[in-house]
Amino acid sequence: MQPWTWRVAGTGLLLVTAGVLGVSSQPRPAPTTGGPVLYEGARVIIGDERPTIDDGAFVVAGGRITAVGRRGEVTAPAGATRVDLSGKTVMPAIVNIHAHVGYEKYLEAEGLSRGEHFTEANLLDHLYREAAFGVGSMLDAGSGALPVTQKFQSDQRAGRFPGAARLHLMGGIVPVQGGPDHILIQGTRALGANYEVTRSPEARTAVQDLKAKGVRHVKIWLGDRNGTYPAMPHEVYDAVIDEAHKAGIAVHAHATNLRDQKDAIRAGIDVLVHTVQNAPVDDELAAVLAEKRPYWTTVFGLGDRSEVCDRNPFVLQVLSAAIVSDILATDCRPNPNAAVREQRLKANFMKMIASGARLVLGTDAGVWPRYTFGTADHHELQRYVEFGLPPAQAIIAATSRPAEAIGLTDVGVIANDRRADFLVLDANPLDDIRNTRRIAAVYLDGAAVDRAALLARWGPAAGTPAR
Ligand SMILES: [Zn+2]
Repeated sequence: MQPWTWRVAGTGLLLVTAGVLGVSSQPRPAPTTGGPVLYEGARVIIGDERPTIDDGAFVVAGGRITAVGRRGEVTAPAGATRVDLSGKTVMPAIVNIHAHVGYEKYLEAEGLSRGEHFTEANLLDHLYREAAFGVGSMLDAGSGALPVTQKFQSDQRAGRFPGAARLHLMGGIVPVQGGPDHILIQGTRALGANYEVTRSPEARTAVQDLKAKGVRHVKIWLGDRNGTYPAMPHEVYDAVIDEAHKAGIAVHAHATNLRDQKDAIRAGIDVLVHTVQNAPVDDELAAVLAEKRPYWTTVFGLGDRSEVCDRNPFVLQVLSAAIVSDILATDCRPNPNAAVREQRLKANFMKMIASGARLVLGTDAGVWPRYTFGTADHHELQRYVEFGLPPAQAIIAATSRPAEAIGLTDVGVIANDRRADFLVLDANPLDDIRNTRRIAAVYLDGAAVDRAALLARWGPAAGTPAR
């Protein structure tokens, strides 16, 4: 058994330490009364290219980080509470720039998106799931219904929903009856969540509507899903990109084959979504990447054999017994092409990065329950390192770089005047990236997320879903 795995016993959760670190003590929770707190003794991973501070200290006051340095060099403000984090590692909370919040209800293995699922309560559930696993900021992947997400975001900014990952909004522009995959589109079409456009002027009007709503991101879906979907014409996505950039809106593009990825990048998109799996990344795509250097999110996990199928306790802890048995019974067929896929993904991943693609973490969670909010973020991190990325670079791709990619200047690093969004880990992810899963605590805006209460909601002991 891996030392970082969790085992469920009765209604409680026990960390199986396997003798590696001895007792896994929880750090004392920070006082919620708002007084300053000095955290000292942890290894502090900053989240960008700056070196790790081995025996670090930082001060949190008013939900913000107000000082960072070596232990002994950071002065505690008068009246500060001291929290000893010796032996722990601190890293910034994760920033996820691609997940489909709001539709998944964990009712059946195949995934079930319905318009009526898309409620404030379900959004909150998904953002709590992310927060419980150390995600502080989440960009919706262009499938959300804006009337619901906009209200949620403004309520959240006003202080409702403490302890949930912060939601950021993205609109979606699609051909009529096109866009999201066959599962998500059930919900998005029912709600009219995406702008359906046929011609360039309609696309420009849609972008202007997003601008008027204050939405800073837009998603487009390129390609025809092997002839099963209407494809967005080139002139239409050219119009989206042109209008969006005039409005200060970033364009995220779904593209899954070489031709669509080249077209999207040449056309000037800002964030490329997906990894080509059916062909090697060729020198032409490499040259386009070198010239344009788009941000890129791989979203590997949707196509991976899931960790549910491998009965990984870290993943199983957030799923009910009923949904796990449904997934195991119907969604764990072995992929005969797994070895070929693995080799191609590895080669393509490293070539994309070497060519200039700027890796940022996204998961595509919210489509299938087997690949879900929170745990999926750690799966992506693990895959980056399995494919050859150094752990420090994987962490940058999950923290400061996605924050930069989506224009968040107050999160993504452990630094002065950033929000106090951070994870406390029982072991060092620079030694083994799977140590991001050994979460001792998550803090958002300086307050500890009540992980135990959240995990009890979703785990094997939680109520069984309808099916
Ligand atoms: Zn997606």
